[in-house]
Amino acid sequence: MDSARQHPVPSDAAARRAVAPVICYPADTLPAPDPGLYRGARATARKSAEITVPPRDARCFRVSAGQFFRISCPEGSQVGDLNLWHAQKLEERFFSGKTRALHGTHLGTGDRMWSAFPFLRPMATIVEDTLEWYGIDQYGGGVHDVIGTRCDPYTNRLLSGDVYHHCCHSNLTRALAAETGLPLAQAEAHVHDVLNVFMCTGFTRDDGRYFMKASPARAGDYLEFFAEIDLLGALSACPGGDCGAEHSSDAAQCHPLLVEVFTPEEGALAGWQPPAPSDYSRDHGAG
Ligand SMILES: [Zn+2]
Repeated sequence: MDSARQHPVPSDAAARRAVAPVICYPADTLPAPDPGLYRGARATARKSAEITVPPRDARCFRVSAGQFFRISCPEGSQVGDLNLWHAQKLEERFFSGKTRALHGTHLGTGDRMWSAFPFLRPMATIVEDTLEWYGIDQYGGGVHDVIGTRCDPYTNRLLSGDVYHHCCHSNLTRALAAETGLPLAQAEAHVHDVLNVFMCTGFTRDDGRYFMKASPARAGDYLEFFAEIDLLGALSACPGGDCGAEHSSDAAQCHPLLVEVFTPEEGALAGWQPPAPSDYSRDHGAG
């Protein structure tokens, strides 16, 4: 960017840069999940369903409010691109950008996946993460990001000129069309920016470029969620495999992903209610 600089550096540049940052959304202003409630319910839960996601493909799954679901890579390191919708209305879908603003670039235990406006409520809460040890590495990388979008055939075409049909965007589109019966083009419009499960990403410190590196996930690692509302999920096993080199091709070694659903015993969530959508009037000051 330096060669493109058109404006002089002000004399007080160092002072302006030295201003301390302020956290946009302090964590203590968010309604906190109750880990004890989740732990108690989880202890009573039995597995009630499982869905295997084949490599370079996606599958949908359904989870009711109050159930748990676990995403794992049973055979080897594999990135998963996750979309969530309200099970009865696709308009309410995961909002990657606001989730990032509320919780940070990478999600972990206690963080929530928030739905888009005008709903803005927790869709799912992360209750367990076997990669919680990873933290932020020396490159600024972390796992389970909400900074990427999803690999897609449009960007691939733009950058390489190639045609590739098994990017996560296409996998998610096909899976949602198959699940709902929607025509492909309508299903595609519901596919949105993902939670990148197991993916290791960050921004380079010197010029802020988006980077990925081989996922630290190994066979058996998992990320587990509590479903706060009735959910329709779609999970793509990214053609990038562990995303250590490239995606949008058949070059990388890929593995299946597994989604398991666990149902707590009757009464284990006594007193708990799914969160309500935002009660903002949507008047927007128009009177
Ligand atoms: Zn992908």
